[in-house]
Amino acid sequence: MIVKNVKELIGHTPLFEFDAAALGGKKGSKIYAKLEYLNPGGSIKDRLGKYLIDEAFRERTINHETTVIEPTAGNTGIGLAIAGIEHGLKMIFVIPEKFSIEKQQLIEALGATIVHTPTEAGIQGAIEKAKELAKGQPNSFMPLQFHNQNNPAAYQATLGPEIYQELHGKIDSFVAGAGSGGTFAGVATYLKKQKSSTRLAVVEPEGSILNGGPAHGHEIEGIGVEFIPQFFDDLLIDNIYTISDAEGFAFTRYLARNYGLLVGSSSGAVMAAAVKESLELPTGSSIATVFPDGGDRYLSKKIYAGQSAITPFIGGTNNAF
Ligand code: PMP
Repeated sequence: MIVKNVKELIGHTPLFEFDAAALGGKKGSKIYAKLEYLNPGGSIKDRLGKYLIDEAFRERTINHETTVIEPTAGNTGIGLAIAGIEHGLKMIFVIPEKFSIEKQQLIEALGATIVHTPTEAGIQGAIEKAKELAKGQPNSFMPLQFHNQNNPAAYQATLGPEIYQELHGKIDSFVAGAGSGGTFAGVATYLKKQKSSTRLAVVEPEGSILNGGPAHGHEIEGIGVEFIPQFFDDLLIDNIYTISDAEGFAFTRYLARNYGLLVGSSSGAVMAAAVKESLELPTGSSIATVFPDGGDRYLSKKIYAGQSAITPFIGGTNNAF
């Protein structure tokens, strides 16, 4: 395979098949996870960066002199920076301090600039800071992933159809985490249009507010919301799984040690939820999910150090390995 532009490497990631029972889930059911860390920037957000920049040029919102300014946990910054390279776009990303140093180094490697906001100010603080920077910057563009309909549209156009085609339409439930909510809403909308009976289950860490729990910090990175994403307005969500840090990280480590899948903690959390979801469905069900990024960008946070046992959380027996 010869490629001439890094953007050609975005998307069409493999779909990994798991026997749900091997992870404590329903016997005879399958879980399929899109390995989004195999995108060139190492995360699902490469799809978003490409889509946002392509659309902004198409809609003439930006030109080659534009400065792109965006609040991000890091992966969207990497995705946007990759998409902007061929156009020589200047990029500034506003990142709350708590997010991993590796993602920030990758952003800088791609030529973008980082502005920090205090961890306590949350993503809302980063959004406000980005708006303030944009005001003082002529010819700037803020994609604003948290409100931009092109965010879910990016996944509705690419990830949803890929999953549906790869599974020949046999999807009983779609399970995914929510940060901006774009991935979940985009794929869910596409899958529901194909088959309205598809169940939808969203995943958040403890400390996120979807299930009404109290808002607080969490170690699982990339998912969790401080406000209900507006993209969820028209979706009928069947289940919300709130996963503890301990459970999310145990699954993250389990995926590394038993499957060789070096994924980040949001992937471990969605896997924990997908296993629980399998127990809600009849045997023979097919559950689709998404592993948004890789674990190597969290090594400074020691995500692989510690217990990888998953049985205390799922409660089933696990004799698969
Ligand atoms: N996992 C990781 C590692 C992420 O960086 C993100 C985005 N913040 C998500 C999951 C959630 O994706 P979305 O913003 O589309 O909800």
